[in-house]
Amino acid sequence: MRICRFSHGEEVSFGVLDNLDDQGEITDNSIIAILKGHPFGEPDPDGRVIAASAVKLLAPILPSKIIGIGKNYADHAAEMKSELPAEPLMFLKPSTAVIGPGEVITLPNQSSMVHHEAELAVVIGRFCKDVPRDRVSEVILGFTCANDVSARDVQESDVQWSRAKGFDTFCPLGPWIETDLDPSDLAVTAYVGDDLRQSGNTKNMIFSAVDLVSFVSHQMTLLPGDVILTGTPAGVGPIVSGDEVEVAIEGIGSLVNTVQRA
Ligand code: MG
Repeated sequence: MRICRFSHGEEVSFGVLDNLDDQGEITDNSIIAILKGHPFGEPDPDGRVIAASAVKLLAPILPSKIIGIGKNYADHAAEMKSELPAEPLMFLKPSTAVIGPGEVITLPNQSSMVHHEAELAVVIGRFCKDVPRDRVSEVILGFTCANDVSARDVQESDVQWSRAKGFDTFCPLGPWIETDLDPSDLAVTAYVGDDLRQSGNTKNMIFSAVDLVSFVSHQMTLLPGDVILTGTPAGVGPIVSGDEVEVAIEGIGSLVNTVQRA
């Protein structure tokens, strides 16, 4: 099931998206069954079905917090000239960094080197704490694409990463949440324009998505809608004003954003 969040007329709703084409794209035949209220638990449709082509997709979730994981692919740790972490390396991105598909990544004036980072994002579905690995599937709503946009020059000058990864618009999410997906073997790619920049696979994560949900839940309570970014494979690089950047993940879809200087 694909859960999307969208605006239609004066309303913002969650819905279940169906009838995509063979490439997983929305066409004139695609439909959305509108849900009552929130997307957690058993989906509760309100009876209305509308054309997906008539709505504007928004970020599929508004998390209370976004937990990032650094250096979770060996090839990316190598390109950053970093040691592999012995435990997941956590950081937080503010909720105010979230934007949706089609929205603009704004390059802040504090940075002259902003990078894309294509990542699988886990969306939490239940209030949870201290989740053992064998129960992680019970607390996951689904998966979406994320771009952990990072001001690399700021990251290198600060001791920690709140500023570098916390600017407004630095957490594109979308285009929707796929609820039926095994996260252990998925191609993760990033394109800037037609240029393939990142081509990885979640099977090369140091700590799996399941490991990460369990680990993070032992540090802090997770709330429905919280997002865990699972790290990026090699190939990170600059985005500049006028670029179009696409994060695509096998089994989910493609998240496209444009880039503008503030
Ligand atoms: Mg990252």
